[in-house]
Formats: sequence, structure tokens, C-alpha cells
Amino acid sequence: MADGSFNPFQMAQQQFDAIAEKLQLDEATREFLRNPDREYHFNIPVRMDDGSYQVFRGYRCQHNDARGPAKGGIRFHPQETADTVRALSMWMTWKTAVVDIPLGGGKGGVICDPRNLSLREQEGVCRGWIRQIAKNIGPLQDVPAPDVMTNGQHMLWMLDEYEKIVGYKAPGVITGKPLGSGGSLGRREATGYGVIYTLREALKELNIDITKTTASVQGFGNVAQFAIELYQNYGGKVIAVSSWDNKEKKAITYRRTSGIKLDELLSVTNRFGEVDQQKAIELGYEILPGEAWIEQDVDILIPAALENQINANTVNKISRTVKVLAEGANGPTTPEADVVLKERGIFVIPDFLANAGGVTCSYFEQVQCNMNFFWPKEEVLEKLDQKMTSAYKAVSELARTRNVYMRDAAYLISISRVAEACKLRGWV
Ligand code: NAD
Repeated sequence: MADGSFNPFQMAQQQFDAIAEKLQLDEATREFLRNPDREYHFNIPVRMDDGSYQVFRGYRCQHNDARGPAKGGIRFHPQETADTVRALSMWMTWKTAVVDIPLGGGKGGVICDPRNLSLREQEGVCRGWIRQIAKNIGPLQDVPAPDVMTNGQHMLWMLDEYEKIVGYKAPGVITGKPLGSGGSLGRREATGYGVIYTLREALKELNIDITKTTASVQGFGNVAQFAIELYQNYGGKVIAVSSWDNKEKKAITYRRTSGIKLDELLSVTNRFGEVDQQKAIELGYEILPGEAWIEQDVDILIPAALENQINANTVNKISRTVKVLAEGANGPTTPEADVVLKERGIFVIPDFLANAGGVTCSYFEQVQCNMNFFWPKEEVLEKLDQKMTSAYKAVSELARTRNVYMRDAAYLISISRVAEACKLRGWV
């Protein structure tokens, strides 16, 4: 969803190039890893409810599958671009590598706005997407999942279409499925909880008592909601959240300095994570501009909406009180903003580490589907906590011992793991 001059793929390549240089990767490996292995662009014709046809543009990008089948979500968004999908697929490669699960990186998308489509039309987009890509995905090839504005229902329509095409049951072809249809308990919580498991570890290392901290969150969708739930369960206080107001076509920040009440705010939020402004006012929330989430005098910032939110224009608005940035969203911080964060000594838990809980739980979903035996929620979350905590510790230890920025440490670990797998296979 690139806007204006921001190009997420260029940013992903820039981040990669800097680490490739530090790792002294050879030219061929650099060339190989800085571009996706394969990508598919296709038309998805859908018969609309009024009988007319509309053609949507669909994408799937497989950045790298040296460590296992490509893995990554499918985004439905009106501003989706090929470069966003490329960037996200590359970040997925680093994400699966940093948490050390046997998967690669992929990503998909459709330029569409599900908010303006009926359920039948959304089903048409899902089934059409699969018909175009079925030959190139599969449980041992490339395994999609939900992302922004897609959910378990979309995944099940996709699975159903795939199974019709191949003629057998293939629950491992897609993750994020609904419970009872091959989904895993804990998947809804996984990304948001994962952000907070890493935040909990970071605060311990920084000797900060989580119960004395406050946070401001950008976004109020799947990632943000569960991050807020666990953070508040641990005793932290969220004083502001922002979300997109689709009526006014702008973001709004909702603030309550005594702490937001999650259940109450959820009761006035739709399934796209959009808060009903009028009802929030009635509940006593202060209404501030969308960008205000970043300026709050809090200890922790959690961007959990979109990429390119902490950039050269916004980074200097971050309050002097902020000590930790836990990146729930993919690509929320640009390299220019990173320079300022480094200078100011703000501790960053980088996106592809902090939000790796989703893909880790997707991997658990695949494992459970393969066994055809499903674990209780506590077991899923316990395994998730272990994976996230050990990945966090490996990154922070490298950051400390090599005296490097947390994002660089996470990249050093992931890129060397992926480069090594490519070398061992004899690819480059
Ligand atoms: P979602 O669609 O459930 O929620 C997105 C939220 O962002 C909504 O509350 C929306 O109102 C808000 N939003 C959109 N534009 C905004 C803006 N300009 N300002 C403020 N808020 C805005 O999406 P999600 O699944 O929670 O994903 C959020 C981010 O996390 C994305 O970057 C996604 O790629 C990333 N992510 C998601 C998962 C996952 O498992 N869902 C996993 C890893 C990373």
C-alpha cells in the first residue's frame, strides 16, 4: 500500500543491502536475495451482485524458499501495489528465519476494498485468486494466510476452491483457517501476544517494571487488539489508540489518559478495526487527529497499522518519554527514522521479530493439520511464548555483544541463516 513517494520494496532492499555489506555477502548471493525468486500477477474477474463483471488485480510473490515452503499472508486493500507485496514477501523470509521455523517468505494481495463488497463478491475474489495461483502454491510449495482485511472465512473459501481443483483434502495449503475447519487455537491472539512477549523480555532487560508503563498504539485491528489485551493483562496501561475512520477517510486517535477499556472500545469497533467515532465520544474518549498517537507522553509506542508511519516527517514528534518502540506492523519505520531512533537511544523491537507470532502460530497450525491432532490453546500459547522469547533473546544478545542496533542484529541473524541455506543447496 505504497503512498506518494514511499516505496516499501526499495526500503526493504535498502535494509537488506546494508546488512549484506556488513556480512560481506558475495555479489551473486546479494543479487539473489535482494529480489523475489518468483512472482505472479493476474486478473480476477468477479460477477458482481448486480450482474456486471469487475476485474480485480491479484498478486503472489515468493521471495525465497530455501529454508522451506514460502509462507505469508494475502492482503485485500485498495492501495495494494506489486512493490508492497514484494517488500512484504522479503520481510516474511527474514521473519521465518529469525524465529527459526522451517519456512520461507511469500506474500499475496488483491487490489480491492472488501468494505465495499458483499460477502458473495468477496467469496468471488477469494475463489478467483485461488483459481489463478493454485498450480503455484501448495502445502509443500507456498502456504498463504490472512493479512490486512482478510480473515478465516476468506481462507476457508480459498481452501475449498483449492481442494476442488486438486481433488483431495489439503488443509496444509493455507493457515488462519477458522476453528473446527483446520484452524489452530491461539491464532487470533498470536501476532499481538507475540509483540507483547518480546516487549515483556525487552522491559525486563531494560529494568523497567511493565506495571508502571504506559503505551500508545496505532491501529485497532487484529494485532493491536490482542497486543493491548496481553499488555494490559501484564499490568501496563494503554492511553491512546488510533484507527481508520472510513466515513471521514482519515485516521482518528482515541485517548483516555486513565487507560482505555478494551472490551468497551471493542463494542464500538467493526470487524475491520474501525472505531465508531460518535459512540467513542459517548463513551468519554477524547478525539484527536490520527497522527496524535505518536506524540503521546508514554513509555512505549506500538505501531500496529501500516508501513511508513514513523518516517522523516513524524519521527521527531515522538515524545522524550518514549523508551521502547515495539513494531507490530510490517515496515512501520523508514531507514531515515531509524537514524533518529538510534541517536535518541529508543530501544526498537523490529517488526519481523516482534510480529513473528502470527507466522509461528501458522506453522503450529500446519504441524497440527499434518498430525490431524489439535493442541489446547494453553499449549499453543506456551509454545509460542517459548519461540518468541528465544528468538528475542538471540537477537538482543547479538545486539549487546556486537554493539549493534536491534534491527541490524535481527537482520544479521536472518540474512545469514537464509544465505547459508541457499549456499548449502548450491543455489548461489
Ligand atoms: P487489521 O486489518 O486487522 O487492522 C488494521 C488496523 O489499522 C485497523 O484498526 C485500521 O483501522 C487501522 N488503520 C488503517 N490505516 C490507519 C491509519 N492511517 N492510521 C491509524 N490506523 C489505521 O490488520 P492487522 O492484521 O492487525 O495488521 C496490522 C499490521 O500488522 C499490518 O502491517 C500487517 O501486515 C501486520 N501483521 C499482521 C499479522 C497478522 O497476523 N494479522 C502478522 C504480522 C504482521
